[in-house]
Amino acid sequence: MHSILIVDDNIHLIALMGKMLEPMARVIFATNGQAALREMKKSRPDLVLLDQEMPGMSGDDVAAAMRDDPDLVDIPVIFVTGHNDVDAEVRALTAGAVDFIAKPVHEAILLARVKTQLRIKGLSDELRRSATQDGLTGIPNRAAFDSRLAIEWARASRNGAPLSLLLLDVDHFKQYNDHYGHPAGDRCLQAIARTLDGVSRRTNDMAARVGGEEFAVLLPDTSLAGARVAAERLREEILALEMPHARSTTLPLVTVSIGAAQWLSGGNGGGSRAADLIEWADKGLYAAKAAGRNQVVEYAVPTASTGTRVMGAALAMTEPH
Ligand code: GH3
Ligand code: MG
Ligand code: MG
Repeated sequence: MHSILIVDDNIHLIALMGKMLEPMARVIFATNGQAALREMKKSRPDLVLLDQEMPGMSGDDVAAAMRDDPDLVDIPVIFVTGHNDVDAEVRALTAGAVDFIAKPVHEAILLARVKTQLRIKGLSDELRRSATQDGLTGIPNRAAFDSRLAIEWARASRNGAPLSLLLLDVDHFKQYNDHYGHPAGDRCLQAIARTLDGVSRRTNDMAARVGGEEFAVLLPDTSLAGARVAAERLREEILALEMPHARSTTLPLVTVSIGAAQWLSGGNGGGSRAADLIEWADKGLYAAKAAGRNQVVEYAVPTASTGTRVMGAALAMTEPH
């Protein structure tokens, strides 16, 4: 069932509209702007009916705050206003409202407009989901990963916290498909995705499928030492799935190789871009493959202050200058 947040300083109007809308949605309400924003954060309604004129924070202010908040920007707003003129309507639409209802509220108009917006919201939720979710595994896809990386990169730049990245690639996966068949290969990828997703659901981390049999795990606020621990744990958890792999020359089980890298604003971060972090982790991954697979290799990035800093035991790689 859809949920609708009614925001109005007039509780009688809330009660009236609530009664009209109850048959088609779960109705929640707030009597001022601040409470409305708090409620939206908490319950993520599908639609907000927003009184344009309220004491204190106005409807326009609330709509502006929603536009600035990535969690709220996709919630549609219908303005409800006492001014039934062109100016008020233009102001509402410029503030980002999807529609406009004049007071006094007529039941038939309210229901028709709300119904339309809920239908559109359902469609756009579905579009957003299919644009950001990998079809095979259900975890975030490459596009979702890229946008999250950009956000975390900006955040790490602001607060100076380290940002780490793991790139995983299934070992000898072509052989796996050849031996067990493509559908079995798909199920194997799904099992690996579930393992990665399980870990990232408990934390701030994000696991995504970024290629055919390649996955990325983004670790905000995590140093390279922390990334190493996370990577090692993931490698072991996937091994513990004990999926037989008769054709692997590494082990008779499905294994993964993992490259790890860290970016630190003001440390190794000077002049680098988000794409560099992917490249560094990929170099670690390449080294893990070369060193025999089923292992984690950290890519050591040179720092401005110490020159070339070599980390990791399996293979010491350095950034060429
Ligand atoms: P390496 O250990 O070096 O990673 O060897 P590999 O065989 O895993 O690497 P390669 O890149 O040669 O092969 C990747 C294989 O992954 C080829 C392709 O058939 C398989 N693959 C990619 N996407 C999918 C998918 O969606 N489903 C299935 N079943 N297989 C896939
Ligand atoms: Mg690959
Ligand atoms: Mg592979």
